[in-house]
Amino acid sequence: MTCREAESLVIPFIHEELDDGTAAEFLDHIDACDNCREELEIYYTVEAGIRQLSDDMGSSNIKGEMEADIQAARRRIFRGTVLEVARYAADTLAVLGIFAMLILQFRLWWQAGLF
Ligand SMILES: [Zn+2]
Repeated sequence: MTCREAESLVIPFIHEELDDGTAAEFLDHIDACDNCREELEIYYTVEAGIRQLSDDMGSSNIKGEMEADIQAARRRIFRGTVLEVARYAADTLAVLGIFAMLILQFRLWWQAGLF
């Protein structure tokens, strides 16, 4: 991901509008690129400021909140990946199960002299 792409994803990331794959790429870039991380911090601070004005809920730890949100996004991405792997595994087992049933059925028919 280029810095240009990452910068265009800062606001969608803060608004939690990115799909897991894009968010994962974005976070990887943020980890590796200080400029874009700074960009995220600036926008996050601005967004948090606006939220506080409308909610009247003062928080002095905006950077901490941002880190917490990043952690939450990572957990969400990880859960998504685990679920996907589990789904593939279940699909594979289902196909293998059907295949095994067919083989056993054909064996029964074979033993019954149908072939
Ligand atoms: Zn960058």
